[in-house]
Amino acid sequence: MAHYQTAQKKLLLDFLREHSRQAFTIEELAAALEGREHAPGKSTLYRLMPLLVQEGRVKRFVRGTSRQFLYQMMGESCRTHLHLKCSICGQMVHMGHEESLELVRMIDKKYHFSVSEGDTVLFGLCENCRTAPA
Ligand SMILES: [Zn+2]
Ligand SMILES: [Zn+2]
Repeated sequence: MAHYQTAQKKLLLDFLREHSRQAFTIEELAAALEGREHAPGKSTLYRLMPLLVQEGRVKRFVRGTSRQFLYQMMGESCRTHLHLKCSICGQMVHMGHEESLELVRMIDKKYHFSVSEGDTVLFGLCENCRTAPA
């Protein structure tokens, strides 16, 4: 049983890692994994995802003004840069370390405020959502 759970978790983490630029709802994850060996079902995902969030491997967001939760993989290096997040499609952009540092230094210098890179997400609109007709 424990072995089976480990396999499910690995499959899930592998998938999220391969798609680390995208965020998914539980339903989307279940649909994307369906048919694969050891694919976790929806109820398993509802149990697994909060654990991964707790472990700091996955970040949880709310999609736009909806109450839907989205999950996205966080890399090791995500502690050291800022993130830009689209409020419409949920896409997350990982800022470069240099650019993040520059911004953080500027804020520190001007406002004497130290930003926590890994926890900070700037919300806005990505290129696609900004150019899409309203
Ligand atoms: Zn990142
Ligand atoms: Zn977008």
